Amino acid sequence: MTWETIIGLEVHVELKTESKIFCNCSTRFGGEPNTQVCPVCLGLPGALPVLNQQALEFATRAALALNCQIAGYSKFDRKNYFYPDLPKAYQISQYDLPLAEHGHVDFIFGGEPRRVRIRRIHLEEDAGKLLHSEDGGLSADANVSLVDFNRSGVPLIEIVSEPDLRSGEEARAYLNRLKTILAYADVSHLKMEEGNLRADVNVSVRPTGSTEFGTRTEMKNVSSFRAVVRGIEYEAERQVKVLDEGGSIRQETRQWNETKGVTIALRSKEEAHDYRYFPDPDLPALDISRDFVEGVRANLPELPDARQARYVRDYGLRDVDAGILTSDLSLAAFFEEAAGLYPKDPKAVANWVLGDLLRIMNARAAESDEIPITPKQLADTLMLIDRGTISGKIAKTVFEETMATGKDPEVIVKEKGLVQISDTSELEKVIADVIAANPQPVADFRSGKETALGFLVGQVMKATRGKANPGIVNELLMKALK
Ligand code: ADP
Ligand code: ZN
Ligand code: MG
Repeated sequence: MTWETIIGLEVHVELKTESKIFCNCSTRFGGEPNTQVCPVCLGLPGALPVLNQQALEFATRAALALNCQIAGYSKFDRKNYFYPDLPKAYQISQYDLPLAEHGHVDFIFGGEPRRVRIRRIHLEEDAGKLLHSEDGGLSADANVSLVDFNRSGVPLIEIVSEPDLRSGEEARAYLNRLKTILAYADVSHLKMEEGNLRADVNVSVRPTGSTEFGTRTEMKNVSSFRAVVRGIEYEAERQVKVLDEGGSIRQETRQWNETKGVTIALRSKEEAHDYRYFPDPDLPALDISRDFVEGVRANLPELPDARQARYVRDYGLRDVDAGILTSDLSLAAFFEEAAGLYPKDPKAVANWVLGDLLRIMNARAAESDEIPITPKQLADTLMLIDRGTISGKIAKTVFEETMATGKDPEVIVKEKGLVQISDTSELEKVIADVIAANPQPVADFRSGKETALGFLVGQVMKATRGKANPGIVNELLMKALK
């Protein structure tokens, strides 16, 4: 029997508001613990929340970017549970009337177009952060946990997908696209290492061909895409093994353990009724006017699909190339600035970015927001080729050197003596030497074997350490051979 894996993701994204969702404490990351707190986000008696309008705008913008319908009427509910990082013992969230529903994310996976449906997006508040002794920062034998409430009350959106994903790698592709769209929508800092984006991962398996879903387990708060993929693969395999052995899957919450590479059962999964949801009496319901929604829609930044289409239309790029360039906001911004500085040939700019730039960045595992060369340096390199100062081949060396040292291309060319040799008399001497040293290829060429010319050009390039102007070499060689 073969099995199919079914995955649905609940992705939590911290919004980039200056202040928290229901109070005016700062959302800044990395402050001294418990310095960005007040009676509201500490849940002190009598404190009253007030909704941050910017959070509602960001959430609406994100929902529109993800093709959702925005509710006309929405409200906040209390989700009751006890945990030391939740001082009120309830989280302000949205239960039955979420801000947005019925969206979708389109992306390419394995060369094929895929669509994952978004069931709902709701607004809620983040919890505080627990620091356990095993996390470091505390002495290992202290056997205590500390809590930092700076994060408590940071605005979150929760993006709930339908169970439309079928593998760990497909989940990664979905998350990548989701992250790209949110980056374009400009609603979150999206720093994975600061926990701006975390996923609850629901996994079940079923016999291939079956139309019913199996019982799922849920991994909470997985904070890297790699962990999501590994967690899904481990969990699917575990479930298949249990079922193959005649057992059954318990609906439960499990924890992904990154170091051991396994999931561990935490508790039987809670049901909605366990949370005793009820409308938060401290917050008025949201009457969301069409004017508000249309205003947000009108101010939506350009999204990745639109930008991809624009690159094809305005720069004449191939659709796949435009797709790669626009899949990352920083990369797209780099390309566009360089293309603006070198308007005569945007395709050449794209080729450099997609070829040498990405190759070197991948080799160094560099992040796209730390591209070690400026758009101007790339444009200048191309202009050096146009002016005949360097050959296309030497340009690759110069480009690599700029990426390694940050030095301007002109400086590298001067320092390393890379100026192209276009001087005919100098090249004629080299050509005479090459002809004298290679009688066989010369004879081959003269008897009609045209390919021998390439070899001889190569010898001239070698003798000049790549600095000879290839166009002129070709011309002079032909003349000398005839
Ligand atoms: P809850 O909020 O209690 O976790 P939901 O029914 O709202 O439960 O589902 C949450 C997530 O679980 C959604 O992303 C959904 O796609 C996913 N999900 C639901 N059923 C399954 C299943 N059988 N296998 C995998 N994922 C599932
Ligand atoms: Zn506060
Ligand atoms: Mg859930």
